[in-house]
Amino acid sequence: MRGSLTNPIPADPCRRCGICCHPAVIVGRLSIVIPGIRCRFLRDSPGGATTCEVYERRFEAAPWCLTLPAARESHALAADCPSHTLGEDVAGKHRVRPGALASARPAIARALLEAGVPAWVDVEGVLAFLTSAGLPVSRTIVIREGILGFVVEPGGLLSRNRD
Ligand code: SF4
Ligand code: SF4
Repeated sequence: MRGSLTNPIPADPCRRCGICCHPAVIVGRLSIVIPGIRCRFLRDSPGGATTCEVYERRFEAAPWCLTLPAARESHALAADCPSHTLGEDVAGKHRVRPGALASARPAIARALLEAGVPAWVDVEGVLAFLTSAGLPVSRTIVIREGILGFVVEPGGLLSRNRD
């Protein structure tokens, strides 16, 4: 997100986790992020950190990017992001442990198919996740402005509001 500090300046508290550059996927009451389903400009760095490929011009290149205050207000930061001045944001985003991610894969896939994803994500990441959940995608569609949906093979199982 805009001002996510994925390229932090010295003394910034950002740990460059990149969680704020992933769309939230709502599963139950939890706002989670899925590895690989993230802003198309986010890149991996050594040591597990991330960096923004367009950080210096992100406001122009990525109109979806939020300022840090806006990301904080809209619960777009990690729940335990150090930028929260009042402690953890329970409505913030959570990374799911790999073991839990495996067992939650079907529920997450359903949530993705129902809600779609923002058009700014790296679509390849969504396709890879759905394929890993046994739901290979035959077609990407626009559900509504700025939101992509996915038609899954073999014909029939698809995101809401098929065109
Ligand atoms: S442009 Fe994308 S990767 Fe860069 S800070 Fe914004 S949301 Fe994150
Ligand atoms: S969630 Fe917080 S710590 Fe993680 S990249 Fe965003 S601003 Fe940095």
